[in-house]
Amino acid sequence: MTNTAIGNESPANILCKSCGLCCSGHLFAWVRLNASELSPAESLGLKVIRNDPRQRGFTQPCPLWDGMCTVYASADYPRTCKTYKCIVLRRLLDDDISLPAALTVIQETLTLIREIEPLLPSSIAISFCERLITHKERLESKGEELDELEQEFLRKTEALLICYEDQFGVDDFIDFEK
Ligand code: SF4
Repeated sequence: MTNTAIGNESPANILCKSCGLCCSGHLFAWVRLNASELSPAESLGLKVIRNDPRQRGFTQPCPLWDGMCTVYASADYPRTCKTYKCIVLRRLLDDDISLPAALTVIQETLTLIREIEPLLPSSIAISFCERLITHKERLESKGEELDELEQEFLRKTEALLICYEDQFGVDDFIDFEK
C-alpha cells in the first residue's frame, strides 16, 4: 500500500487507491505488529490482538481505510503497512506492467470478489477471506453432493485463490506479512 499524495499522483497511488484489497480484509484477515507497535496502533483506532504471540497484530478489515489510508502520515503508522507491496504494485514500480494493465488486474479481481460475495453465508468472522476459507473448507468436507450454487462458489473461489497467488503473491491470505 502506498501513500496518499495529492496532485500529480503517482501511478502507484492511483493503483492502490483503486484497490485497497490488502487493507479491506479481502487478502488478509489480520496484520502482524511488533510488540512496541500494539499500543500506538490501538490509539490509532485499530482493533489489536495481543493475547497470542503468534498472532500479534490488528484485525482486518482496517477501519482506517477510506478509499485510501487515512493514517499514512502518522508517526504510529505500522511498519508492515508502510513496507507491504503486492506483486502487482512491485511490477508497476519495476516498469514490468503498465498502469492500465495493472488496473485491469485489480478490476478483474474485484469483479470475481463481487461474484463470490453473494454466494457466501453470513458469518461472525468478519473478514471476507476468513468467511471464504471457512465456507470453502465446509463444502469440501461435506459428505454429500453439492448443489449448483455451492459448485459455483468453489469454482470461483479456486479462480480467486489462483489470482491471489499469481497476481498478488499471496498464498497464505489469513496472515499479512511483508
Ligand atoms: S493489494 Fe497491492 S495494489 Fe492493492 S492496495 Fe495493496 S499494495 Fe496496492
